Amino acid sequence: MKFSDYKISQEIKTQLDFLGYRRPTDIQFKVIKPILDGEDIMAISPTGSGKTAAFVIPTISVIQKAKKNNNMISCLVMVPTRELAKQIESVYIEIGKDTNVKVFGLYGGVDQINQINNLNEGIDVLVTTPGRMFDLISQNIINISKIKFLILDEADLMLDFGFLKDINDVMNFIPRKRQTLFFSATISKKIKSLAYNVVKNPIRIQISPKNKIAKTITHSFVKVKMDDKRFFLENIIREYPQKKIIVFVRTQIRSKRVLQALKRVKIDSECLHGSIEQEERFLILNRFRIGENKVLITTDLSARGIDIPDVEYVINYDIPDAPDNYVHRCGRTGRGTRRGHAISFCSEIEQELFESIVSYIGEDIEEYKVNKDDYFGIIDSSEYGGEDWRKLLKKYNQESGNNLEW
Ligand code: AMP
Repeated sequence: MKFSDYKISQEIKTQLDFLGYRRPTDIQFKVIKPILDGEDIMAISPTGSGKTAAFVIPTISVIQKAKKNNNMISCLVMVPTRELAKQIESVYIEIGKDTNVKVFGLYGGVDQINQINNLNEGIDVLVTTPGRMFDLISQNIINISKIKFLILDEADLMLDFGFLKDINDVMNFIPRKRQTLFFSATISKKIKSLAYNVVKNPIRIQISPKNKIAKTITHSFVKVKMDDKRFFLENIIREYPQKKIIVFVRTQIRSKRVLQALKRVKIDSECLHGSIEQEERFLILNRFRIGENKVLITTDLSARGIDIPDVEYVINYDIPDAPDNYVHRCGRTGRGTRRGHAISFCSEIEQELFESIVSYIGEDIEEYKVNKDDYFGIIDSSEYGGEDWRKLLKKYNQESGNNLEW
């Protein structure tokens, strides 16, 4: 099946061709036609599967065909994070470039005035996080009482973020008669019960990759002491200065520490975490996207679902607490047909956690074995200078002929 075979508008077909989308991905193949036929959808499909375009293509096409002169919100896309709102807005804009469908990404953390001006000009598709939307509904700036499509994207993350009440509340503002498209990367009892509250006789689709980790990603781990992780990170970054690298850490504080550690050895990097102002977060992501900054240090939640091309390395500087976060982290690399690498730094206290990841993904993760000489070599080659106590100990051992252990 090719996109040219679908009953979608010529403007969309031309733009898909321009974007290099020749054939639908699995999820697109399964949902585009039912959506065009007016069906509700409940789809379990991982990020990176082309799921955004799977709902963007048919909804733009339907809206474009039905559109009269006035702009009235006819499609509401609810997402858990501001980054996702912006990302999905840009996919709508890109695919709908030559159509008259107007889309707007709405989220908190930025000034309302410009948003209100944009909304007042009239829009067809609203992509939004819940907080700011409810705020503007209460100010009578947004009216979603006539929507035809409700799309819940990354529903599992919506639940993780505590948006269940918001999803239920939104039902009070939208028509009962509508088409609901429900997307989640994972399935659980909670997800199912949420889905069945909002969809009616849906077409159920599950795209489960044979392997939890895409075949395009090689993944390995290295045993390293907690205090030495910074040397190993420095070593990898220096080895691949031209590559884009995402470094995952457990907490915001850890991300700042790693940033400082890299700064001390004159490696440029940036942190992305929830306490950074929204505008700045977008700028940070954009600098990474265009390659102006090549090393992004981030936490699980801040980076979830983001689609940045050409990330070649994911470094699990800290082993993730939940095994499915390992899958989400690795999914930031090896996207589409590109290759990627995930390397985990596993300290002694993280080994149990790491084993639970290995059993969760159901395949072995290769150990990158570093012998003692290489291990010291990595520390020795660091720009940290001679003040490190391990270096001093090694120097002492060499000079004294002793072999004190660390
Ligand atoms: P998503 O799962 O929506 O985050 O999409 C993952 C990536 O796949 C994005 O970078 C899209 O641009 C790309 N993509 C989506 N659909 C297609 C397609 N039919 N052909 C080629 N690339 C696609």
